[in-house]
Amino acid sequence: MSNELGAQIDRITQKRPMYKDALSVYKDLVGFLMEIEPEIKSEIKNGAINEIKAREGFPVFSREDLPLDRMAAISLFPRLLEHLSSKKRKDREALKKALKKIKSNSQWVHHAMSNFLSRDEQAIADMAKEINLEPMVLKFLIHMALKPSLNILKKVITEKITIHPWDYGYCPLCGSSPDIAYLDTNGKRYLHCELCGYEWNYPRLKCPFCENDNPKELGYFVSEEEDGFRIDFCRKCNSYIKTVDMRIIESLGSLELENLTTLHLDMLAYEQGFNC
Ligand SMILES: [Zn+2]
Ligand SMILES: [Zn+2]
Repeated sequence: MSNELGAQIDRITQKRPMYKDALSVYKDLVGFLMEIEPEIKSEIKNGAINEIKAREGFPVFSREDLPLDRMAAISLFPRLLEHLSSKKRKDREALKKALKKIKSNSQWVHHAMSNFLSRDEQAIADMAKEINLEPMVLKFLIHMALKPSLNILKKVITEKITIHPWDYGYCPLCGSSPDIAYLDTNGKRYLHCELCGYEWNYPRLKCPFCENDNPKELGYFVSEEEDGFRIDFCRKCNSYIKTVDMRIIESLGSLELENLTTLHLDMLAYEQGFNC
């Protein structure tokens, strides 16, 4: 693991001690991710077509046909399960059950990945139920297993093509929704993709989920316990997004980590009647 990530984890653990266990799990899993070297699929290399698509407002890929190295993810998935099931966790038995499932049905992980990528929440919930695992945990582990390949995809595509100003609420690379946002030191807003982690500039007064730009229906509230964070909401579609304000926070961890360790802010948004 890079020293930088280690330092970020230490800083966040100090700031939000209630996430100590979750962060230690994350740290372990990232170690496994680094051992994988996914293949770069040929579709990623076709920069010219990708650029034309991105220019016309279509994401370069859709979630379902992302050129990911699924074999690498499939080999990584049981290692993540094995590691977690060796820990004292309340879902330990479910994780072991998942391991057994994979051994007896080699297509299981493949199906789970397809359902995750096509956002089939019901199918994911059914698969999680088969092994008594929380759907959130199943999705998190699938995402982690796909991450080495997603990171390469993001790196190669952004090196190859220029993403022109992208005024849409979905990711220009994979078409996914944003999971967290930040305001830079000049107050410019950026959205972070929930799947591939790409960040893009987006108008401040516009809902990323329904594109509503009526200022009367948009607003935000701040968290009393978390300086530098706010929750931007839209009264038209009832959605919200957590936003880190870099004009207040000096050092920002990776947005993925900030997102994982601010579930208390999601609770706050749910209590106010908003959905993500
Ligand atoms: Zn994306
Ligand atoms: Zn909206």
